[in-house]
Amino acid sequence: MLYNRTGKSGLLLPAISLGLWHNFGADGDMANQRAICRKAFDLGITHFDLANNYGPPPGSAEHAFGEILHKDFAAHRDELIISTKAGYHMWDGPYGEWGSRKYMIASLNQSLKRLGLDYVDIYYSHRFDPNTPLEETMGALDFAVRSGKALYAGISNYPAQATRKAAVILKKLGTPCLIHQPRFNMLQQEPLKEGVFKSASESGMGVICFSPLAQGMLTNRYLNGIPEGSRATVGHFLKKDQITEPLVKKVKALNALAEARGQTMAQMAIAWVLSHKPVTSALIGASRPAQIEDAVGALRNAKLGKAELAVITKILAG
Ligand code: NDP
Repeated sequence: MLYNRTGKSGLLLPAISLGLWHNFGADGDMANQRAICRKAFDLGITHFDLANNYGPPPGSAEHAFGEILHKDFAAHRDELIISTKAGYHMWDGPYGEWGSRKYMIASLNQSLKRLGLDYVDIYYSHRFDPNTPLEETMGALDFAVRSGKALYAGISNYPAQATRKAAVILKKLGTPCLIHQPRFNMLQQEPLKEGVFKSASESGMGVICFSPLAQGMLTNRYLNGIPEGSRATVGHFLKKDQITEPLVKKVKALNALAEARGQTMAQMAIAWVLSHKPVTSALIGASRPAQIEDAVGALRNAKLGKAELAVITKILAG
């Protein structure tokens, strides 16, 4: 594993981190969940990413990971970076979503109980709340850190301008914003185009990119149809109708380039994400341990030359 410095902080994160958004719900198979996490840790993935609402039902991924921590990683807490978030709908009534101090702190307390932890390493505001003063949401992150319930503060899905403002507020409070977590992959390049990378890196933050494989679209998963059990057949966030003919055509062309580089499509997609300067870590998901092995293999050949990057851009442009 390669470990990268997170922005201007002292924290090193693995170039590949594992997220538990999918496959860790109450309906999941605990033996498989444990095997995925153990494989990740054995390969040097020290960072596990959660949120209050991961499941289904919401909260169950934190529950599952709490159990795994207890069974498999009890002796390794100080070798792990565990994050959670609050921002999306978690419970009914006026205090169960967005960015109020009430929600942010109540949710963190709930997450710690589910995880069976005294503190998380990174606590995120999961999304920008246009109706709550940013000072209040950032104040809640600062409080989480000062009270010892989190070691670092982060933001996710924040647009460029709010990113800069959040950084200024947190700096004044004495809790610098560690990291931004946007979605970024070959098919979804908004953070690069809309200035989020620039705002984050100029503010001293690291960047961890979620869905680097576009939920599996940038792998060999859908090259020959839509297999039963794949995310497009079971997930609510990736629909079968997103696997279009033009998309598959592009991914086949990208896959040919990956093969010429001696790697899999998933490995080249991860290498592409990591080739963008402010990126600290690519935050993958996995439904089985073999996918983790595949992802980590990306680091054997993570450098993309200018000519290869140009070919990728051309293929993506169609
Ligand atoms: P990816 O883009 O890495 O997609 C993961 C999925 O791709 C897997 O579940 C699997 O799907 C498929 N896959 C993975 N590796 C391979 C491989 N080697 N070969 C073939 N298929 C593969 O990431 P996710 O969309 O899962 O997101 C990752 C994490 O990012 C989340 O768990 C979460 O922590 C974070 N996240 C944060 C958000 C935020 O708002 N901050 C929003 C979304 C995610 P299959 O089931 O078909 O096998």
